[in-house]
Amino acid sequence: MKNIVAASTLFAVALSISLCAHADSPPWNYEDQGQPGGWGAIIGNASPPPMNYPYAECAIGNKQTPVDIGNAAKTPVINGLSFNWKPFTADFYNTGHAIQVQPVEATGYKGTTKVGKDVYPLVQGHLHAPSEHTVNRQKFAAEMHFVNIRNDGRITVVGLLINEGKENLEIQKMLDYTPNTPEVKTHNPTNILFEPRKLLPKGNGKFFTYSGSLTTPPCTEGVNWYVYQTPITMSAEQIEKLRSFYDGNDRDIQSLNGRELVTNK
Ligand SMILES: [Zn+2]
Repeated sequence: MKNIVAASTLFAVALSISLCAHADSPPWNYEDQGQPGGWGAIIGNASPPPMNYPYAECAIGNKQTPVDIGNAAKTPVINGLSFNWKPFTADFYNTGHAIQVQPVEATGYKGTTKVGKDVYPLVQGHLHAPSEHTVNRQKFAAEMHFVNIRNDGRITVVGLLINEGKENLEIQKMLDYTPNTPEVKTHNPTNILFEPRKLLPKGNGKFFTYSGSLTTPPCTEGVNWYVYQTPITMSAEQIEKLRSFYDGNDRDIQSLNGRELVTNK
């Protein structure tokens, strides 16, 4: 009898896990990076090959993110980046891998990031701790990513490195209102106004740009990355709180494979 109960419990657990996972998006975690083949070796439900390896690009892609900024060759060019980031009514979302802030969908938010003449709608911002990009192989305490996605699927991500320092009032909203339910996707739509512009660094506005990828499976390439040189800050208490959600949600550094970083200054 005991065995039957145990077996049926196992079955129920297996069922709930399989229901959580999208058919071609098997679960993954940051520890999987260290396994042979990393995320690329995770097997999905679809067939035939190579469809049963939905995250293959994580392993076989050659323009992956993050990279080390310090040692890259840098080519100065003028490439305009401008922000039409209006404040938005925030939905605080725990993705199961990061804490994320995004506009409440019903508000029809129209904030955009302009790259040259290309306009990318701002879709969400999320946090990694420690940072994903490094400078001379040094990690920062954390990193914020603002993800901008066009209707045609093109993606531009603005990366902000974060040092320990002064308290960050906008990030505090994320720490206060994101549901604390690890590994479960949970939204908290609020009336809180989130002001993404307040997160941009005050420094000289110098950024590095390169062609990379998503830093989470499926690691899709063709992502335009813009990483600011001047870090922003969070207090020690805030970094500790951030790590209470996710500690170590940073992807390993990827090879540049000959890519050059381009700077605006
Ligand atoms: Zn990210």
